[in-house]
Amino acid sequence: MSPLEELRHSASHILATAILRLFPDAKLDIGPPTDTGFYYDIDLEHKLTTEDLAKLEVEMKKVAEENQPFLRKEVSREEASAIIRERGQERFKLGRLADIPEGEKISFYQNGEFIDLCAGTHVRYSSKLKAFKLLSIAGAYHRGDEKNPQLQRIYGTAFPSKEELAQHLERLEQAKARDHRKLGKDLKLFVIDEDVGQGLILWTPNGSILRQELQNFIGEELRKQGYSQVFTPHIGKLELYKTSGHFPYYKESQFSPVVENESLAGIVKEGCSCAEMVARLDAVSAKIRDNVNERAGREIIPAERVMTADKLLDGFMLKPMNCPHHIKIFASQPHSYRDLPVRLAEFGTVYRWEQSGELNGMTRVRGFTQDDAHLFCTEAQVAGEVLGCLALVKVVLTTLGMSDYRVRVGLRDPDSNKYTGSSENWDKAEAACREAAKTLDVPFTEEPGEAAFYGPKIDFVVKDVIGREWQLGTVQVDYNLPVRFDLSYIGPDNQPHRPVMIHRAPFGSMERFCGVLIEHFAGDFPVWLAPEQVRIVPISDKVIDYGREILSELKAAGIRASLDEHSDKLGAKIRRSELDKIPYALVIGAKEAETRSVSVRSRAKGDEGALPIVAFTERVASEIRTRSLPVKK
Ligand SMILES: [Zn+2]
Ligand SMILES: [Zn+2]
Repeated sequence: MSPLEELRHSASHILATAILRLFPDAKLDIGPPTDTGFYYDIDLEHKLTTEDLAKLEVEMKKVAEENQPFLRKEVSREEASAIIRERGQERFKLGRLADIPEGEKISFYQNGEFIDLCAGTHVRYSSKLKAFKLLSIAGAYHRGDEKNPQLQRIYGTAFPSKEELAQHLERLEQAKARDHRKLGKDLKLFVIDEDVGQGLILWTPNGSILRQELQNFIGEELRKQGYSQVFTPHIGKLELYKTSGHFPYYKESQFSPVVENESLAGIVKEGCSCAEMVARLDAVSAKIRDNVNERAGREIIPAERVMTADKLLDGFMLKPMNCPHHIKIFASQPHSYRDLPVRLAEFGTVYRWEQSGELNGMTRVRGFTQDDAHLFCTEAQVAGEVLGCLALVKVVLTTLGMSDYRVRVGLRDPDSNKYTGSSENWDKAEAACREAAKTLDVPFTEEPGEAAFYGPKIDFVVKDVIGREWQLGTVQVDYNLPVRFDLSYIGPDNQPHRPVMIHRAPFGSMERFCGVLIEHFAGDFPVWLAPEQVRIVPISDKVIDYGREILSELKAAGIRASLDEHSDKLGAKIRRSELDKIPYALVIGAKEAETRSVSVRSRAKGDEGALPIVAFTERVASEIRTRSLPVKK
């Protein structure tokens, strides 16, 4: 553990000490550190409240002031079990004890009267804990499994100093105000409707503008880089995913297949059980097995999955990935080395089954649209293509004012041989990823063992204005799918060669990316992204006609504007435009009508005085064209 993790983990022991002082019948589960703090999971009849948190905090302070040493005690399995039982903590702790593999050391840590099964490590004295705070209570299933009892999880955080804690709490407040779920509702950007389904985003008109502008922008950059746009359906046959390996290997994270009515009727007639049906859906034909196994050069589809063709049941799957569809487009024509690279791009919608407890606004969903593309290239082109992918990311993130990001380069585990493709190609691809990452001029880390079995990858992690990190998408080199689908191109030697594939969805998905953008900008989008860019606010009904004239001029210039025709007071109208986070409000009265001008109130500078309507229109049009960032307040 890092010193900070050690501090936070020790805080969770001190929390548990306080819990047992106040609630002696609490059953403890575990209390690990997290990226931002710590928690402890407990089972307790009494439902904890925020008042309880305050009381627990007071008790924790006492424990800290008691300056208890953390003492390690190594014991045998029998002794461990006895200690747990003695303390009445067998409910979860015995299971945790059973998790420790035979032959591994079993240790307890004791501070004051409290003793906990734990591998460590900890601070030496409880008085090290000077700056901590309990934050919230949430429900959490034991071992994260919905079938297990729900426990109460107490979240807290700790820092080495009071100043750092204060800063963190301030950031949490800011994060709350920026929460995309709240802003999404206030600004009418998206909704989730239980009748449609959890984790499925309905993009409302305002949100759709945001997304469309972003897609247009990314699309422009893709065209500059020589990508071809494609469109593919939301479903594909199960056989396709059996060839690609997406089914049944990732079955847990997919929606169930859709079986045709006729096939369903057929298996009903045969009196086929559900279990048989599932087995027949999972199975492959001997032909697929032989083709895939032969190409891959080793058995990857085991014999027990193979059935005779008449037993097989095919269906459709909501696509979990766009790759197989794009591969079929590539494979639909013969290719010469002169045609490569082929770059196929699609804002492709995919569906994944996420546990309902994992769903979160736009950032964890069950259906999302990837900014996806697949590049088919020669071995020699990999480096250049990875570089191109990164150049695109740089342009987009810079334009959005997100220059604070880092990349992680996922490499092979040097001690494993689970990887497809020759080690010579891997060396080159890894070097290409590393070199490409260097060109970004941002911090990057190399992470051995983080590559997929089929190729190295680059992940993007963006830091937003309040310092939170968001994992976006990836660029992934793939030696496997071209083999599984037997892709080839004709080389200069007139012989067929295997292309390399690169998957890239650098912003992850439009849902996630927009969710991050909402939080990054706190809803104050740059003018080019703002769903409504200008609002005309008439002082009285007398100038409504003038307002309409301005409105049509703005619209003619391609500016998204509206006229506030409500009859309430000027102050209320201006306030409303501020709440709606409109970049510009144009106040108009008799004077403005006479001089064909507008009084400009900008989000950034407030009252800017009068401007001729033509000058204002030009200014906004130019901000949109150049995609300029909002001026900081
Ligand atoms: Zn511990
Ligand atoms: Zn892909």
